[in-house]
Amino acid sequence: MDVRSQISMVFHLDKCIGCHTCSIACKNIWTDRKGAEYMWWNNVETKPGTGYPSKWEDQTIYRGGWEKNNGSISLKGSGKFKGLANIFHNPYLPVIDDYYEPWTYKYLDLIESPEQDDQPVARPISLITGKPIDIKAGPNWDDDLSGTPDYARNDPNLENLSPAEQEAMFQLEKMAMFYLPRICNHCLNPACVASCPSGAIYKRGEDGVVLINQNVCRAWRMCVTACPYKKSYYNWHTGKSEKCILCYPRLEAGLTPACMHSCVGRIRYLGVMLYDADRIHEAASANDNNLIEKQLDIILNPFDEKVIAAAKANGIADSTLHAAQNSPVYKFVKEWGLALPLHPEFRTLPMLFYVPPLLPVMASLSESKNGAQNDKLNPIAKRWDDNWLYDTSTEELWGTIEKARFPLQYMANLFGAGDTSKISPVLKKMMAVRIHRRSVTVGDLSAEKVNSALTDTGLSPEQADAIYALTSLAKFDERFVIPPAHREQAIEMLESTADEKGSTGFGFKERPVRGV
Ligand code: SF4
Ligand code: SF4
Repeated sequence: MDVRSQISMVFHLDKCIGCHTCSIACKNIWTDRKGAEYMWWNNVETKPGTGYPSKWEDQTIYRGGWEKNNGSISLKGSGKFKGLANIFHNPYLPVIDDYYEPWTYKYLDLIESPEQDDQPVARPISLITGKPIDIKAGPNWDDDLSGTPDYARNDPNLENLSPAEQEAMFQLEKMAMFYLPRICNHCLNPACVASCPSGAIYKRGEDGVVLINQNVCRAWRMCVTACPYKKSYYNWHTGKSEKCILCYPRLEAGLTPACMHSCVGRIRYLGVMLYDADRIHEAASANDNNLIEKQLDIILNPFDEKVIAAAKANGIADSTLHAAQNSPVYKFVKEWGLALPLHPEFRTLPMLFYVPPLLPVMASLSESKNGAQNDKLNPIAKRWDDNWLYDTSTEELWGTIEKARFPLQYMANLFGAGDTSKISPVLKKMMAVRIHRRSVTVGDLSAEKVNSALTDTGLSPEQADAIYALTSLAKFDERFVIPPAHREQAIEMLESTADEKGSTGFGFKERPVRGV
C-alpha cells in the first residue's frame, strides 16, 4: 500500500444556480492576460448542451483520454507513438472556433465619437486580431438554451436515449436543464501528464495538484488533445500550455480556491482524500461496468489504523491525516455514496466528484420506450400537440426516479459510464433524504413510507440528517477542510520535472517516488 494524499472536490449540482461567479473569480485572478483571453479554467455549462469547447465530450472528434486494450490502457489520440506521428500536425486539437474568438468592445467610441445624428455604439473587436468581428459564439453561448437545435440537440450525452426521452427534455413549457460547472479534475491517472513529450506536466506528490512547468513546456500541445475534459489550454502569446492550478498559492496559505470561495450557490466542497497509488493502474484498467467501484476502492479509510500507519511511513503529516478524517469530500463520495466522477469511462480517475441533480422530479415521462410516441411528434414544431407526454397525475408525491423527467440514461451517460444502475441508487438516496426531512419539518408523510424510503436506500435517520446538514446548512469551514501546507514535502516544486521524464510521462513502467 502506497498511501498518498489528494486535495479532492465535490460539486453538488442540485445547488448550482448558473450564476458564473466562479468563472469570473477565476478569470480575474488567472486568465485575464494576453494569450489567455479565450481560456476559462472554470466554466459553467448548461446541460443538455454542447459545452465549451463545443462537443468536448465527443472523443471521436478530440481523441482524449485512455482506451482499454489487452488488460492495460493507452492514450487514445496522443502518447509516445501516436503523439510522435502527429507531432507536426495534430488533427485532434480544438481550434479557436471550437472555443470562441474572444472579444472586447471599442468603448472609447462611446465618448470620443463626433456629434452626429445617431448614437454611437461600441463595436465588438477581436482580442486576437484587433479587428471588428461578428460575434458568433462565447464560452457560455448556450446558457439556459436547453431545447435549441444547435446546442441541446447536439449534446453527445443523448446516446442511447429514445427519441421520446430526448424530446421530453426539450419541450418548451416543460424544459429540463441543469448547470455543470467544470474545472480541471486533478486526476489520479492524468492523460495530460502521460501525453507530454517534454515531461513538463506533473502531479504534486503532497496534494495531487496537476501543474505544467512553464519553463519545460515546448508547446507540443499533446496535453490539449489528451485531456478528455479539455482543461489544458494553449496560450498563443507565451507559446506554452496552461491549466487550472487549483489556486495552489491560495491553498498553501490556507485559503480556498477562488472559484470555491466565491461560489454563490455554496455547491462546492474541498477536502483531503487518501488513496493507494499502487492500485491506480488496476483501477484505470477496470472493465467499464466497475470503473467507478474500482476508483472508489483505492480511496482509503482515513480512520483505518493500517492506512494511518502506511500514510505516516510515507511521510504524510498528522495535520493532513486529521484533515482527511474531517473531509466533506470523503463523506459525500465514500461514506454516503452520493457523488460520482464525471465521465469515468475516460479512465483518468478524476478527483472532482459530482452529486447529480435530482430536479425535476414532480412529473414523470409516460412510456418512455414506446416508439409510437415518435409518430405523434409534430416534425416541424418538435412537440407533441396534445401534450400527453407527461404524467403529472401520480399519487406519489415524489414521482418515481425511473420515470423522472430527466431521463436516467442521460444522467448515466454523464456520471455512470452509460450504466443506469450506478446513478439510480444515488438519486434514490437523495430522494430518501428529502422524504425524511419532509417528515421532520412538515410531518405529512406516514412513518411507514419514511421508514421504507430510508431502509430501501440503506440510510439511517442520523445519516439522512447529516447529509441534509452538509448539503444545506454547512458553514465555510465545514465545506472546505484544507490541510496546512507542508513545504518540506513539496519535492516536486523544487526538482526539475525534466528529471522525472519517462517515469510518469509515458505510462506505468516506473511510478513517481516520494521523498527523492
Ligand atoms: S482534467 Fe485533464 S488537465 Fe486536469 S488532470 Fe485530468 S487530464 Fe489533466
Ligand atoms: S458560483 Fe457556484 S452557483 Fe454560481 S455558477 Fe459557479 S458553481 Fe454554480
